[in-house]
Amino acid sequence: MTSTHFVVTIDGPAAAGKSTTARAVASALGFLYVDTGALYRALALKGLESGVRLENPEALAALLDSTRVDLSGTPDAVHVWLDGADVGERIRTPEVSEASSRMAAFPAVRARLVELQRSLASHGALVAEGRDLGTVVYPDAEVKLYLDADLPTRARRRARELESRGIPMSLEQVTEELERRDQRDRTRPDSPLQAATGAIVLDTSGWSIEQQIERVLDIVRGHPSRPESGPEERAAGGSQGVGASENT
Ligand code: C5P
Repeated sequence: MTSTHFVVTIDGPAAAGKSTTARAVASALGFLYVDTGALYRALALKGLESGVRLENPEALAALLDSTRVDLSGTPDAVHVWLDGADVGERIRTPEVSEASSRMAAFPAVRARLVELQRSLASHGALVAEGRDLGTVVYPDAEVKLYLDADLPTRARRRARELESRGIPMSLEQVTEELERRDQRDRTRPDSPLQAATGAIVLDTSGWSIEQQIERVLDIVRGHPSRPESGPEERAAGGSQGVGASENT
């Protein structure tokens, strides 16, 4: 896949700080920010609410055909759309995390969402984060990163985040949830979580979030073909419902 715009991919396991880093880097550089996990989560929310059995491929196909997911906004204020409703907060529960990872193992689901993600690269330079961005979605990305951190560090980060959303969970429960999801994401046959060839792998255990952001910004700024400022097509982004989060 050839993109006409500069692409930064950030892959890695759950709660490695990908979203915070990608958001800050996109904001600093005037790039679009694409939270691909939010697309899987929105679809999973619909599946949960409509009681679709994931083991039933026909029901899943019908769900895909009747669902529209989208992203809009800026890196600092992302909106996640499911059939025209903003579901930004509702997709962050542990139930949706679990369902999104189960649903993401289905090739039909991935094919549909990969198509949407690729179309976003025509709207401007972007930072996209998820599990298969450097390996499958944007294999020609200019900068590929793989952010990792040890499990206790990631579990602490996720527990803090959930608490701030009013969803308190014990560290033990969060650890189990992350382990189960990572294991599923790493071992699925279609687009498993792994570092892309040529990716820069950063182990951020013990780093502050500021250090993490600075390190990634240094790497992106150091790339010889990085655009000097945000893309001139920025105005063509998510506000028109094409699915990108943009910095305006
Ligand atoms: O990144 P986030 O935790 O929001 O992603 C939720 C789930 O969506 C992941 O556990 C993974 O199964 C799936 N996902 C994926 N590929 C992506 C992004 C997310 O399979 N590019």
